[in-house]
Amino acid sequence: MHELPVVRSIFEIVIEHARVNSAVRVVKINLRIGALTDLVDQWVERYFEMLAQGSIAQGAKIEIERPPGLMRCRQCDAQWNYDRQSIGAPCPQCGSRESAIVTGREYTVESIAIE
Ligand SMILES: [Zn+2]
Repeated sequence: MHELPVVRSIFEIVIEHARVNSAVRVVKINLRIGALTDLVDQWVERYFEMLAQGSIAQGAKIEIERPPGLMRCRQCDAQWNYDRQSIGAPCPQCGSRESAIVTGREYTVESIAIE
């Protein structure tokens, strides 16, 4: 259920963008969701559909991209990509397990197609 507040904020961004651009219909939305967020694509789509009922974003197609996240070693400063499976793996350069998440928790509305 934690998808709902996130989807609601995405929905608000989409509607505001459509309003500012005098759109009659929102056709497609591209989202980027960080590798570390536990948002489930299917729920994001379902909630969006629910929120969009009766709005100009009704029936909009949602495309979700999951770029890998970036991790940085606290010992040697090496950086590497990770996904949900490889999170927590030691630094590939020095083997340290003291690492910090650089990106991967964020979600962004990449683009919105309107008519
Ligand atoms: Zn390291």
